[in-house]
Order: sequence, then structure tokens, then C-alpha cells
Amino acid sequence: MTKITDLRSDTVTQPTAAMRAAMLAAPLGDDVFADDPSVNALQEKIAGLLGFEAALFVPTGTQSNLCALLSHCQRGDEYIVGQYAHAYRWEGGGGAVFGSVQPQPLAHQPDGTLALTDIEEAIKPDDAHFARTKLLALENTLGGKLLPFDYVQEATALAKARGLSRHLDGARLFNAAVAQAALAMKGSTTPGYVQVMAEARAIAQCFDSVSVCFSKGLGAPVGSALCGSREFIARAHRIRKMAGGGMRQSGMLAAAASYALDHHVERLAQDHALARRLADGLAGIEGLTVEAPQTNIVFVDLSGAARDQSAALMAHLSTKGVRATGLYRLRFVTHLDVDPAGVDQAVSAIRQFFKA
Ligand SMILES: *Cc1c(COP(=O)(O)O)cnc(C)c1O
Repeated sequence: MTKITDLRSDTVTQPTAAMRAAMLAAPLGDDVFADDPSVNALQEKIAGLLGFEAALFVPTGTQSNLCALLSHCQRGDEYIVGQYAHAYRWEGGGGAVFGSVQPQPLAHQPDGTLALTDIEEAIKPDDAHFARTKLLALENTLGGKLLPFDYVQEATALAKARGLSRHLDGARLFNAAVAQAALAMKGSTTPGYVQVMAEARAIAQCFDSVSVCFSKGLGAPVGSALCGSREFIARAHRIRKMAGGGMRQSGMLAAAASYALDHHVERLAQDHALARRLADGLAGIEGLTVEAPQTNIVFVDLSGAARDQSAALMAHLSTKGVRATGLYRLRFVTHLDVDPAGVDQAVSAIRQFFKA
């Protein structure tokens, strides 16, 4: 049987044997009574690593962002966010549905940032006509792009100076940290755990709250964490309960996340290298524009005769054991369960399809 190379998302990873062993060995309690030792240990670990007072383990990144939005904002408040931010575009409008929190979406610059002048202009004066602008929410990485660190510092400083709270959707914060550490080291060697954690913490400390996903590149089966001050996390804890996210023997899941933090952080550099290998392999095919990846996501735009061929391409790829998603813009995501042979398998299947 052909080995399947699943490039649809970094969420598709299966827990490794060692991660499963850690899950089985985890001491358990009941987290609604706050006595699950594995959940408590994970919350302390992630808060400590990123430099926050407290953290909350939640089932999904969506619930984490929802808890953050509803903890920062009251009914009638608004948050400034990018048009393509997950928390705005891909989470069913939860902040508006559950919290009556209005989004103020802004267009992204080509590098994924929100222009500082656009942020400035979007902050409403204290006037009865307007919603109260309360929060700036950024995402890093955004569509696989690393936000420049200078920019993160400037945008969050601007928000703070104007009295806004700052939230980071860092579903892929550790991918950002690996890429940022590699830039800082000018590519001389692959950054190790210490350098990557230092960058993750530097990014996180620009914000009042940070959400990270364990179930993406870190390879855990389930779970995210929201980090912030003790008082903020106490509010988020109440919202998590309302959202149905109060779990019981969730230490089994927390143990997987904790294992991922110990073992799967600096290895993200391998996923980034595989994304570059894929992008390089697809260079020069007529009708395909390949965006050079900064982290683990490769976007390929189809144009000309190739434009309407994505469905046929996907069907062809599936006969070759390769899975991907996209319509006019294909997305390939590398992760723990993809190896160089799998990338080469994808490249040759795509080249075969386009007779390139
Ligand atoms: C996946 C993702 C989320 C949501 O995570 P789920 O666990 O799928 O709910 C939030 N933000 C970003 C940037 C993501 O990529």
C-alpha cells in the first residue's frame, strides 16, 4: 500500500508512540475541581515558558480565542483584527455571536501585517456614536508568514499607548519562533530549544494574552492554551465553563501537550526545511506561482490553463497517495508525519500531472 502523505494541514498528525506512553502514564484528577495534576502542570509550564502568571488548557484554538475575546471585551466593545485572521474569519464570528463584541477588520499588507496608520485610524474616539475600541488582535504566524518582530513591537506599543489590550493568536507561535530564531542566527546553524523558546517568549511578552495550539505543528492530538495575568485567566476560566470547555480527566490530553513542548518544538525547523524542499521542487511549472515559504505552509496559485484544474489535480494526487487542499490557491502543510520521501512523492505526482 502506498504511504499516504497528508499535506492538508499540520493538524492531521498522529501521536507518536512516546507521546501515547506519556498520555497513559499521566496522573489524573478532575480538572473542573482543579485537581488534575497533569493539567495543572501543563498550565504552569506554558505560562512559565511564555512569561505569564497563568494559563488555561482548552480543547481548541477556537475556544481559546473566544475566551480571550470575551475576557478582554464587554458587549458593545470592538476589536481590531486582520481580514484573514483566524479569530475573525474562520471561527464562525464567535465573538459577535456569544459576546456581542464587534470586529473591526483591517486589510493586511502583503507581509501579513496591519499598517500602523490603519490601526491608528480604526481606533474610535470616546463618543456615543462608536463602539468602544478595546483590543488589538494579531496572529503570528499568519498564513505561514512570520510577522517581523520590529513590527510586532511597534504595533503592540501603539495599541498599549492608546489604551487597548493586546491578544496574540499564536496557534503557530512556535513556528514563528523557530523562523525568528533562524533569522537571528542568520541561518548559520539550526536554532536549539533555548533559542526558540527565547524568541517565543519575546514575541509573547508584547501581548497581554497569547493563545497557542498544541494540536498543530507540535503534534498533540487535542488542545490549546490561553496565557495571561491571573485575573485575566480567572475571567477566561468562567467563559470556558460557559462554552462547555470544562473537562474532567483531561490530564491525558495535557500530558500529550506537555510532551510536545518538551520534544517537538525545535524540530519544527525540519518542517520548515521540508516546505522549502516542496516549494523548490514545484518551481518552474507553467501556470503555477509558488510563494516562497517562511515556515511550514506552501501556497501555490494556479493561473492560465492550470486555473481550473485543481479538482483534477486533487483526484490525481489521491491516486498517488498525496492529499492537499485548495481551489485556485493550493495549500500544502508540512508536519511531524511528513518526511523528505513524502515531499518528493508529492512533487513528482504534481509534475507528472502538469507534464513538467
Ligand atoms: C487552527 C487555528 C486556530 C483554531 O484552532 P482549532 O483548534 O482548530 O479550533 C486558531 N487560530 C489559528 C491561526 C489557527 O491556525
